Amino acid sequence: MSALVLLTPTDPDGRVVDPHAPQLLVTDLGVVRGDGVFETLLAVDGRALQLDAHLDRLASSATALDLSLPDGAHWRAAIDTGLAEFARRHGNVDAVIRLVGTRGVDPAGPPTCWAYLQPVPASSREQRDRGIDVLLLDRGYSSEAASEAPWLLLGSKTISYAVNMAALRHAHRQGADDAIFVSSDRQVLEGPTSTVLIARTRDGVRELVTPLLRSGILAGTTQGALFATAQTAGWSLGYGPLTPDDLFGNNGVWLASSVRLLAPVRSVDGRAIPVSAELTSELTELLLTATRH
Ligand code: PLP
Repeated sequence: MSALVLLTPTDPDGRVVDPHAPQLLVTDLGVVRGDGVFETLLAVDGRALQLDAHLDRLASSATALDLSLPDGAHWRAAIDTGLAEFARRHGNVDAVIRLVGTRGVDPAGPPTCWAYLQPVPASSREQRDRGIDVLLLDRGYSSEAASEAPWLLLGSKTISYAVNMAALRHAHRQGADDAIFVSSDRQVLEGPTSTVLIARTRDGVRELVTPLLRSGILAGTTQGALFATAQTAGWSLGYGPLTPDDLFGNNGVWLASSVRLLAPVRSVDGRAIPVSAELTSELTELLLTATRH
C-alpha cells in the first residue's frame, strides 16, 4: 500500500495516480543512466518533517546536475496531495516520502517527477531500539575528491545509489547491519544512507561531532536539525576531520537519517562501542524538538 503523485507540465502541483500501474517509460534517463536526484523524508501526523531543508537540498542537487526541476511550491502541493491520499488509505500512520526528479526521456524536455509515500518500514524502529553493528568500508576516493573532481557529484543526492546499496549488501553478508565509508586517506565519511555522529566529553564539555562536509559527504538534514537544537541545549559542536580511531573511546556513535532518525552503533568492525539508551533518547528528543518546527 502506498500513494503516488506525479508532477507533470499539465499537472505541476501533482496528480494522484495508481502506484501499482506502470508510470515510467523504459527510455527515461533516470532508469537508463541513473540520471536524477531524490530526497527521502519522514511524515508524522500528516506533516512532512524538515520539509524546507529537504526541498533546499533537492534544489541544490538538481543544480549540481544542471537539472531543471519544479520549484518548491509545486513539490509542497504534490506532497500535500500525497499526504491526503496516504491518510485516506492508511489513516494516521507515519510515512516515508520519496521525492524523485529524473532527466526524463529527452534531456531537452521536461524532467520526470513524482512523490511516493509508503508506511515506515518496521526495520527502522527495530534498528533504532536494538542498535546496529557496522563495518568500515573503503569508498575508494580521497577526502579531497569533492573539490578536485566535482563531476563525481559528491555531496549531491543523485539516484545513482547502486554503490551505496552494494555496500549495504556487503555489510549484510558479513553479518553487520550497516556500513561507514572511509576515504582512501582514512577519513571517516558517512554511511551509505546516513550521517555519522559522535558524542564525546572534552574538558567536561559535552560535544557532538560529525565528519567534515567538504570531505565529499551529503549534508544531512537530520544532523543539521540536531546540531541546531543541541547547541541551544548546551552541547558544543564539532566538525571532523575524523579518523576511524575517533569512533572508539567516546560516549556513543550514531548513524543519523531522516526516517531511521538516530540508530546507535554498538560495534564497528566487531569492536564494541558504548551504547547509552539515555543519551540516545536525549538526542532523539532534541532532534524531534527541532523537526517539529
Ligand atoms: N548520507 C547519505 C549518503 C544519505 O543517503 C543520507 C540519507 O539518505 C544521509 C547522509 C542522511 O541525510 P538525512 O539526514 O537528510 O536523511
